[in-house]
Amino acid sequence: MRLRVCFMEGICAMREQNALLRVRDLKKHFPITRGFFNTVVGQVKAVDGVSFDLFEGECLGLVGESGSGKTTVGRTILRAIAPTAGEVWFRKDSEEVDVARAPHDVLKSLRRDMQMIFQDPYASLNPRMTVLDIIGEPLLVNGVAERRERETRVRELLAQVGLNPHFLRRYPHAFSGGQRQRIGIARALALHPRLIVADEPVSALDVSVQAQVLNLLQELQEKFGLTYLFVAHDLSVVRHISDRVAVMYVGKVVELAPVDQLFHSPAHPYTEALLSAVPNPDPRRKKKRVLLSGEVADPGDTPSGCAFHPRCPYAEDRCKEEVPELREIAPGHAVRCHLSGVLQLEGMAG
Ligand code: SF4
Repeated sequence: MRLRVCFMEGICAMREQNALLRVRDLKKHFPITRGFFNTVVGQVKAVDGVSFDLFEGECLGLVGESGSGKTTVGRTILRAIAPTAGEVWFRKDSEEVDVARAPHDVLKSLRRDMQMIFQDPYASLNPRMTVLDIIGEPLLVNGVAERRERETRVRELLAQVGLNPHFLRRYPHAFSGGQRQRIGIARALALHPRLIVADEPVSALDVSVQAQVLNLLQELQEKFGLTYLFVAHDLSVVRHISDRVAVMYVGKVVELAPVDQLFHSPAHPYTEALLSAVPNPDPRRKKKRVLLSGEVADPGDTPSGCAFHPRCPYAEDRCKEEVPELREIAPGHAVRCHLSGVLQLEGMAG
């Protein structure tokens, strides 16, 4: 896939293609309250000014450690949780709708186009419902009242995700983790969505099953022209499926680039550290491991200047005071670091 993007004032703007989704300065802050009267004493800035475009038919990987805000971005985009500020423009037919402010009747119709695949295939399926009821539920809610019609569609969906259509009346406990995740994918596909937010869809699965589910997601993307926002902490998984990757740290995107560029030529020290922890399939190729000191910064008490400075091996004095902006350093490659272009960082070979 060939994409051309540019960044203006930290915003990824599209030149050649129409974006399916445009996220602008998205924020989700959770108040910290204390005392009998629940006095607000601070804010946990889980998402703090995230902007990006998501193009029709692409897969954007969103990576970062636990607490980076990546899952909150996915949920806020679908308005499973309400954003504190910002805009989420979704292109529907010839016009754009701001999901962040859409009234509930508009939101209901948008939900057909925007679906989610959840992380835990054990917790996300109701153990008291059959496969027919689980996958058929979104059809029923959206007006497919006739049971026979639902059954036909559910059989079709089961075949599409590689499950036997005769499993219709089984309960979730009769399936393995990988099969349950396929049921979750079938449910997400039921209403012919255009955008799917996949929240760590393979991290709860065995490694051998992960590849099968990733391949299935890729096949479905090609077949139905789906657009994915793929949230994950595992960079090898993200590399397998994404066209571009956004790296998040404490509520902000710190680097965004086409997948090969990010893996071969990272420009942010945090990306370099994440890449250094990815196992290399070729044991003859040695690479240095960048060990980060300290813990991920607390989004309720973000460090001054660059939030990464307490852990950054390259930090200078100004990093403690000045907040770096997201700047474009090459076509489609943006980074939030004062020293981008100066540092020679190590990526992954191959
Ligand atoms: Fe490190 Fe400074 Fe760049 Fe932040 S701005 S990543 S502290 S070099």
